[in-house]
Amino acid sequence: MDPANKALVLFSGGQDSTTCLAWALTTFASVETVAFDYGQRHAIELECQKSVLAELKQQFPHWTARLGAHRQIDLSVLNELSETALTRDVRIEMDERGLPTTFVPGRNILFLTMAGILAYRRGAGHLVGGMCETDYSGYPDCRDDAIKAMQVALNLGMDARFVLHTPLMWRDKAATWTLARDLGGPPLVDLVRERTHTCYLGDRSQRHDWGYGCGQCPACELRGRGHARFLQSFPDIL
Ligand code: ZN
Repeated sequence: MDPANKALVLFSGGQDSTTCLAWALTTFASVETVAFDYGQRHAIELECQKSVLAELKQQFPHWTARLGAHRQIDLSVLNELSETALTRDVRIEMDERGLPTTFVPGRNILFLTMAGILAYRRGAGHLVGGMCETDYSGYPDCRDDAIKAMQVALNLGMDARFVLHTPLMWRDKAATWTLARDLGGPPLVDLVRERTHTCYLGDRSQRHDWGYGCGQCPACELRGRGHARFLQSFPDIL
């Protein structure tokens, strides 16, 4: 497989990375996925990965041949090192620096480094991630410049030629729902709604028109607001 035709997608089982995976499946001949387990409180998202991958294969047979191995990497060391609302029982709020307590410092730097190591071995020339600067949660390592700097660092440090793709970088959440519709029509929108998980609290007991979640945390609010705006443009999609 030519590295130019092979991509590795950072895939968490959430809305953003599932949409990125669909984007990669329409863009590259071969696509593999990697997930990172760092003992985050929404371990339920890791369960969603299996369900999303199974449904994608079942509902989009033309993508099945392109979709290769899925790997889960243990990064529990991140949980040991950092003290945030995603790795500890800490309230979700803004800290004194104006950053949300859900911010895990260095997380995307670590994820992209790990993904680069795996892509190097697997012969994949493209890394795809759901980082986004538009509906900005205040995470510095989601910014376009941080991702571009990581591309340069990986290529210099590994003497490689990776291209880092962030299809959602300049899309808000409504546009992310719209992208899912463009890539896979209503069946993909349904799959994202029913199978993916974004809620910080890991709550899947409540069903909303945008999917499952507590409905209160910042991730649920963002997903719900984006879905409401998406419905204004495509009211027949429900
Ligand atoms: Zn929530």
